[in-house]
Amino acid sequence: MLKGLAAHDMLGIAADADAVSIKKAFRRLAMQWHPDRNAAPEALETFKRLRAAYVHMMGLHDGDRDDDEFEPDAEAPPSGHAQSRAADHFQDLELSLEEVFHGGEKSVWIESQDSCEACDGCGTIELAHGRLCTSCHGSGRIRSGSGLAACTDCDGRGYSKRAICGECDGSGKVGGRRTLSVRIPRGMLPGEELRLEGEGEPSSDAAMLPGDLRLRIRIAPHPLFALEGRDLLLRRPVSAFRMLAGGKLEVPLPGGRLQIDIAPGTAVAREIRLEGAGVPARGKRQAGALRITLEPQFPDEPSPELCALFRRLAEEVEHDLARNVPSLDAWQRKWLP
Ligand SMILES: [Zn+2]
Ligand SMILES: [Zn+2]
Repeated sequence: MLKGLAAHDMLGIAADADAVSIKKAFRRLAMQWHPDRNAAPEALETFKRLRAAYVHMMGLHDGDRDDDEFEPDAEAPPSGHAQSRAADHFQDLELSLEEVFHGGEKSVWIESQDSCEACDGCGTIELAHGRLCTSCHGSGRIRSGSGLAACTDCDGRGYSKRAICGECDGSGKVGGRRTLSVRIPRGMLPGEELRLEGEGEPSSDAAMLPGDLRLRIRIAPHPLFALEGRDLLLRRPVSAFRMLAGGKLEVPLPGGRLQIDIAPGTAVAREIRLEGAGVPARGKRQAGALRITLEPQFPDEPSPELCALFRRLAEEVEHDLARNVPSLDAWQRKWLP
């Protein structure tokens, strides 16, 4: 595919290089080999292969892929049939838990690199009058190794009718921000990626498709809920007497609420697990569980009325201790005969 060279060798980086290094290496080589900048006959072919290597490496780097939502990665065009694409644009996207549960439309700021309008994206502008070449100071020659070579910026003429574009400093691109309305599917988790076709880096020539916009999902911390995989964890303080008696209990959910039934039991912390009530299913991944930790709460300063009730309750329990609290009954028989 890359004519004998591995993608990372093409880019001169380690096989396990991170995204930043891959991008950096590609930018440097692209500056060197872009056919607009390099007149060598092999420049276009080399540039295409570098871009293919870059796309390939970024694809490998993209670890946790969701096969359901994403198209296959734009692999390096093996025989020139596939249309080439500009680079993908990567950006983080923070979602609230409510958005994870319900999805919806979200307005997202995209850091964009638009083609410079002043120079039409080529990085240089045509001057009305030729001016002294700044690279060779008009001599038409520059120092090269042991001798002098023709200046490539002015083709050895010493003057040039083109100058670096002041708007973009010659990069052909200007930074900016734009908003984009993004449809958020339900059930996205941290580290997953939302891919928007054609919303990435703009292409610099008509033959090239724009890159994709790839939004890496982060989840904003929530004061009430925590995530563990697709499980949603919630601590729910509850009256110790409700835990003893059992009954209905309301629990909050991101953007909603739910009524559950708790069985009579002991007034010690316990977990209730509701399968399917956690992070919604997405693709092949099933919905997680809602795990509620019930935390018994006793009255801080019981009123005289409550104290009277407690006394009645205590007498009722002690009336038949062997049946109601056998462990206590056994202890008393042993140590207080
Ligand atoms: Zn420009
Ligand atoms: Zn020159």
